[in-house]
Amino acid sequence: MPESYKPVREIRINPIIPAESVLVATARSMRPRKAEDPAPRDTRKHVDTCPFCLGNEDKTPPEIRRVPAQGEWEIRIVENLYPVLGNDRSQPGLVFGLQQAIDGYGRHEVIVDHHQHGIAIHEMSSAHLAKLFGVYQSRMRELYDMDERLKYVLVFKNFGPAAGASMAHTHSQIIATPVVPQNIHDEVTNSRDYFKRNHHCIFCSLIDEALTFEATIYDRSSGQILRKINVGQYVVERGKKFIAIKPFASRYEWEVHILPLDHQSNYLDTAGEDLDDLAMVMQRTMARLDAVIGGAQYNFFLHTLPHGEEFDNCDKSYHWHLEICPRTSIPTGFELGSGLFVNTINPEEAAERLRSVQL
Ligand SMILES: [Zn+2]
Ligand SMILES: [Zn+2]
Ligand SMILES: [Zn+2]
Repeated sequence: MPESYKPVREIRINPIIPAESVLVATARSMRPRKAEDPAPRDTRKHVDTCPFCLGNEDKTPPEIRRVPAQGEWEIRIVENLYPVLGNDRSQPGLVFGLQQAIDGYGRHEVIVDHHQHGIAIHEMSSAHLAKLFGVYQSRMRELYDMDERLKYVLVFKNFGPAAGASMAHTHSQIIATPVVPQNIHDEVTNSRDYFKRNHHCIFCSLIDEALTFEATIYDRSSGQILRKINVGQYVVERGKKFIAIKPFASRYEWEVHILPLDHQSNYLDTAGEDLDDLAMVMQRTMARLDAVIGGAQYNFFLHTLPHGEEFDNCDKSYHWHLEICPRTSIPTGFELGSGLFVNTINPEEAAERLRSVQL
């Protein structure tokens, strides 16, 4: 085992959201988590009873769009059969004592990512993935244009039962809400504060560090090397326009973030040709994860600038990104009770293992 991968037990502070900090504890005796059993992936191309499969279009809730519009569809957007939010105002807001309730107003839609039932992201063509990223973009734009009250359109995906997917057919989801989710709000306002103090986007700085930073930290009295940080140690994949990075304070063992290399606050501003590069970086990153974990079950979340005038001044300080969070273990009471994430694999070692996959 290389020197840097000796057992680690330390709390790593997330530089953007300190409240999302992580206990990295790699010694076996320190593992408070139960490993999630790898679920056998449903690789079937077509399932007669699946409402998301080709030919079963009449079994889904109403269709919002299909791509392409004519001929055999590749991607479909449909309403969610069990929406967590509704687009009708059913009850007024409520305040009693210290309790407060806001009407669950919003939209909840399903995107059938591909007409093939069990296809994984890394098995899709780059052209298809780029099209999917384009569909996310145009639907987000439409929802914001349709309804001024919507402040955030969250695009996310659950893949595999450990990630909460209730349908085996590959799909992602859109939730549009009149409030900005707290974690995104924290990212936006904390990075704005950082920009006020440092005149730099903190996300750009993190990318620069990943690409250029090198350090050796010595023990003050013995002079022994405590830690070595090598150039590119946290880089998992790099394209012309996008980079995939393993966060220093990774909450999940195999968590990887994808960001545009050049500063950009809003996913809606990403040019069509850049989506090709995003698709390539995403596909290669997912192939690496799949090779190392084997049948990755994961969530991903698209974090971008929220909608509304109050966020106009965050254009220079916020930087959109995609967070990929594979689920390889079940959170325990320690994590749920403390709010501290526990990661049992050294992020530096995880990054190296992902990088060394031959694609
Ligand atoms: Zn299906
Ligand atoms: Zn930036
Ligand atoms: Zn984020």
